[in-house]
Amino acid sequence: MNSQPVLRLPWGLAERLRALLHPQPFQERFAFAVARPVQSASAAPTALVEQLILLEPQDYERASGASLVLTERASSTLNQWMVQLAGQGWQAVHLHSHPPGIADFSATDDAAESALSRWLDAQGIAHYWSLVWPAQGVPRARLWTRGEATTAQLWLGLAPMAGGAEVVSPALDRQRAFGPGLRQVAEQLRVGLVGVGGLGMLVAEQLARAGFRRFVLVDHDTVEITNLNRLPSVTERDLGHFKVQVGKRLIKQIARSLGHEAEVSAWRQDIYRSEAAQRALQHCDLILAVTDNDLSRTMALQLALDAGREYLQAGSDITLGEDGSIIGLRAEVTGAEIGRYCPICSGRLSPAQASIEARAYAGDAVAAHARSAGYLPDVAAPAVMSLNAVAAGMLVTEIQRRAAGLGVRDLLQIDLQSGAIRALERLPAGLDCEVCGAQATGAATDRSAADSSGRW
Ligand SMILES: [Zn+2]
Ligand SMILES: [Zn+2]
Repeated sequence: MNSQPVLRLPWGLAERLRALLHPQPFQERFAFAVARPVQSASAAPTALVEQLILLEPQDYERASGASLVLTERASSTLNQWMVQLAGQGWQAVHLHSHPPGIADFSATDDAAESALSRWLDAQGIAHYWSLVWPAQGVPRARLWTRGEATTAQLWLGLAPMAGGAEVVSPALDRQRAFGPGLRQVAEQLRVGLVGVGGLGMLVAEQLARAGFRRFVLVDHDTVEITNLNRLPSVTERDLGHFKVQVGKRLIKQIARSLGHEAEVSAWRQDIYRSEAAQRALQHCDLILAVTDNDLSRTMALQLALDAGREYLQAGSDITLGEDGSIIGLRAEVTGAEIGRYCPICSGRLSPAQASIEARAYAGDAVAAHARSAGYLPDVAAPAVMSLNAVAAGMLVTEIQRRAAGLGVRDLLQIDLQSGAIRALERLPAGLDCEVCGAQATGAATDRSAADSSGRW
């Protein structure tokens, strides 16, 4: 549908970059970044910026409020890096800022960047990206290919940087407040749902009603009588049907009522076992783990990080005390960003629990043993639609906030029993993490903050 190249920056990295490129008082600044080419459903060239390489003050020959020149030495070092990076399959990104009043690439940029692109072509390197971030207005990006520039779509997290046309379906009129960003996200993003049960079905319904129309649904469960207390639009006639079928029907009905067709691919497989379902998920722009199963969440997280996709997980939990009375009614939303944080290093997803859950796959005898030893529950956890709806609403609201460029919360928690609410914009860096690549910064205060803010 859209073959424009796409450059994506994770939100946390974009925030750092915004600060670096716009010092007070303003001076033009340059930054170098490394991007990973990622697959895209549209076959358009797509890359995810993963690392920033900062310049030192001595790398600038001149930097003022109106221009900047790097030293010859810095330029030639950067050019050598570009050649080395290309040899390892990475792509380079040149980024710089502009003073107020210059909102787009300048004629000087055009000349310098096209010369660089032709030089790279002569080294056998077809592509590099450039980005300009004006002091006022939105950043813009383009892809250089053998001396020719193509305007790219730029995404900061889930927020698209260029507004589409202001055409609003009458059915979506009441969500105008979220602006063109949400509409563009809803029209373009392919969302993968891992879990289409009590929580996932509600998330699917809310996204579909917000205008989202491209979905990949993965769930191997069928509708049981104990699901009838919380699955939207489900009746006894759906008993025995796959939840993904019911979810697909629901999404398609809603899309038609809004005046468009939805594209839904439904996988009746277990994400843990089906490589085909895993591949389908890796073609999604946003992967949502909306299941109560830590093994599935861990799989979804790994898939998202491996493929360079956005990731969010949501969950709700009714905690019972020793005497069986309710002591917690909790809902939580959290995410992940490469190099910064993920649910594993922030303690919200337990690899130990996931490996226990994996025992259910190891054969009946192992599962029976795990059950008798109390590792696997033999009674399903309590669940009600109202609490699932709180978690689903928190998750979809976070997606809408991100799409509208309103910012990013790493962690949202609410306990309707105790009244505790927590909304953290940045989870502090914790331990070195093999999953997301976050590195401990060594700041003891950060770590203690993580411990005190982390768990319930
Ligand atoms: Zn410029
Ligand atoms: Zn991590």
